[in-house]
Amino acid sequence: MGRYVDAKCRLCRRAGMKLFLKGQRCETEKCSFSKRPTPPGMVVKRPSKPTNYALQLKEKQKLKRMYGMLEKQFKRFFSIANKSKGVTGRTLIQLLERRLDNVIFRSLYAFSRNHARQIVRHGFVFINGKRVDIPSYIVKEGENIEIRAKEALQLVIKDCIESNAKGRSVPTWLQVDNPNYKVGIVRLPEKEDLIIQINEQLIVELYSK
Ligand code: SF4
Repeated sequence: MGRYVDAKCRLCRRAGMKLFLKGQRCETEKCSFSKRPTPPGMVVKRPSKPTNYALQLKEKQKLKRMYGMLEKQFKRFFSIANKSKGVTGRTLIQLLERRLDNVIFRSLYAFSRNHARQIVRHGFVFINGKRVDIPSYIVKEGENIEIRAKEALQLVIKDCIESNAKGRSVPTWLQVDNPNYKVGIVRLPEKEDLIIQINEQLIVELYSK
């Protein structure tokens, strides 16, 4: 299955919550979900009580779409979490939050995760002095990330920081040095550090069938 290219706001309306996929727009009254929080498409009468499977699937879709991942990539992350020591759901969330594109987004250096992915792919991001252009790279505690941007990109990032600061804040597991576009990984993220609330246990149950 290819990457989703249809209207992103439909995904929020389908999930029944804001997934913050469109940068600044998500914080304004232009947000489609704020205006119309109903599922997209024609009104279809659904059973009033969703099945267990429907709940598990919805929870998985929320997380997968928020990080802009394909099913195969998401399953790979789940499989890594499942093989790791510790609680699978918690590890899965940690792994997703530690993706390099997410770290750039959470540091307020990009309008959205898609924008962050572009910055990484174009080779502007260095970790401990080495260029890393893989958006799904998992950052580690103690690593130092730096964006070595040319003047044009510096202006875009400056604009991102200013406009993002109005609606979002940098999570405490990251330490940003704004004038130099640097980020330090202070500790590993926890579930409370997510922008949205997720019942990760439902995802574990879905993949454990
Ligand atoms: Fe669209 Fe609002 Fe979802 Fe952002 S949060 S993608 S503006 S519906």
